[in-house]
Amino acid sequence: MSSAGTGAPDVAVIGAGIVGLACAAELARRGSTPIVIETHAGIARETSSRNSEVVHAGIYYPPDSLKARLCVEGRERLYARCRELDIPHRRIGKLVVATQASERSALEDIAARAEASGAGALSWLDAAEVGRREPRVRAHAGLWSPRSGIVDAHALAASYQAELESLGGALALHTRVAGLEPRADGWSLRTESDRGERFDLEVPRVVNAAGLWSDRIAELAGLDVDALGWRLRWCKGDYFGVAPRLGALTRHLVYPVPAAAGLGIHVTLDLGGRYRLGPDVEYVDELSYRVDPAKAERFARAAARYLPEIRPRDLSPELAGIRPKLQGPGEAFRDFVIRETGDLGAPGLVCLIGIESPGLTASAAIARLAADLLQAAG
Ligand SMILES: Cc1cc2nc3c(=O)[nH]c(=O)nc-3n(C[C@H](O)[C@H](O)[C@H](O)COP(=O)(O)OP(=O)(O)OC[C@H]3O[C@@H](n4cnc5c(N)ncnc54)[C@H](O)[C@@H]3O)c2cc1C
Repeated sequence: MSSAGTGAPDVAVIGAGIVGLACAAELARRGSTPIVIETHAGIARETSSRNSEVVHAGIYYPPDSLKARLCVEGRERLYARCRELDIPHRRIGKLVVATQASERSALEDIAARAEASGAGALSWLDAAEVGRREPRVRAHAGLWSPRSGIVDAHALAASYQAELESLGGALALHTRVAGLEPRADGWSLRTESDRGERFDLEVPRVVNAAGLWSDRIAELAGLDVDALGWRLRWCKGDYFGVAPRLGALTRHLVYPVPAAAGLGIHVTLDLGGRYRLGPDVEYVDELSYRVDPAKAERFARAAARYLPEIRPRDLSPELAGIRPKLQGPGEAFRDFVIRETGDLGAPGLVCLIGIESPGLTASAAIARLAADLLQAAG
């Protein structure tokens, strides 16, 4: 255990990704004494360290979906937290581009959704205006989203951990939750350390923020995950780094119109000024983060539609992340599941399932909702 709280824990949070830590910090702020239980040796070692680190404005999701509402709320909370705690971030804005006239209707859909979701007005740019804003980008038209940005995801996660610990909460690393039994007054968690030590923890309330494994945790709690439609599909996204010799490729985030199941292979830059292309979309059955170098050809072709100078030789495998998706290939939009499961016979448990993008942006808002649900359940 990396730190000890001041009192006996009254809520266990399973998973020290950015969302689990945000939930624990929120609960501690409300007077609880949380313990976060995490398999790995450190925080944010899975999806929370394998993503684009983009602060999404909330322009893509169906209005009134949790993804839309929590993204808009979470974005503002995230920027405020970053300003207050000096967490590295930049509100650099994003350009979504149509590379041909036939893609204009996709931009119109995004503009309409953004307005209906309260994500903020987007500005239309014609080809010449796109060129003035981004001299190396070629496009038929573009939408400018000024509220998008980038953030240091690890620093954000560390800020939640620091807040949790300063309020008397605890973090148990190297510890896996292997069982979850309902009791008359809460839950008994069977845990195992990576040295094989076993320990049972009894707590009144539990938050399941186990990311890629959250459906399995729900199953351990006795929930019928298949009947509920909570079975996760893993969907890998690879990234390629862009050779530094290409210099300052773009000033902003540049995205094509969204692809099926993803936002399309886009250009991101991190706070160190390094450019990456990605992520693609590949449903997988196993947890492997290897990036196949042979994909460089396909990535270069996708990016060259709006950045014509990109060649496969400019790209090198860099990183991969895996999305915990509720929808399978070709299936319709699925929203985040954020549910207190008292009505399913499992009271005092909040399950967070399918927390793919924009989960990083929305982390503080997801935490606010999870804590509200636990509080309402008594
Ligand atoms: C390719 C990609 C790009 C993305 N880009 C963006 C983006 O630009 N902007 C954005 O807002 N979002 C983005 N996202 C989404 C964002 O990264 C996730 O929504 C967010 O990181 C989810 O955090 P989490 O805490 O729910 O999950 P995780 O970070 O996966 O944390 C879950 C934790 O639970 C632990 N755990 C699991 N089972 C157990 C157990 N039995 N016992 C103990 N611990 C356990 C795991 O070890 C893990 O550390 C992206 C995701 C991907 C994959």
